[in-house]
Amino acid sequence: MKTILVAEDNVVNRELIREMLDAWGFRVLEATDGEQALAAIKAERPDLVLMDIQMPRQDGFSVLRKLRLDPQLAAIPVLALTAYAMRGDSEKALAAGFNAYITKPIDMPSLRQEIIRQLEAICCHSGK
Ligand code: MN
Repeated sequence: MKTILVAEDNVVNRELIREMLDAWGFRVLEATDGEQALAAIKAERPDLVLMDIQMPRQDGFSVLRKLRLDPQLAAIPVLALTAYAMRGDSEKALAAGFNAYITKPIDMPSLRQEIIRQLEAICCHSGK
């Protein structure tokens, strides 16, 4: 079973995403701010991270930067959750090194497709 960390400060979004991931058969970890996300990633080494850009304590960009500098964590696929209203965030997210971005409100079939795509990419490069 693959583990996915959902880092999102909005409780409604977080619960919605958690329920979907759960229904799709993933093990789900949650973080409500950037500091928590970083700690959970270090402790649990999730297979993939869904990360909100706008979070308290540390935003998604800051957390991603730290992950990419850590050789143990650098290869974990991280998908940015960006608000539709903050259109520039999507381009910034890709430029910053997020593997992909998902625009909120989230289209669940697209989210599922992107998660599977990212997990398969990991699988086939590393030969796992
Ligand atoms: Mn947020």
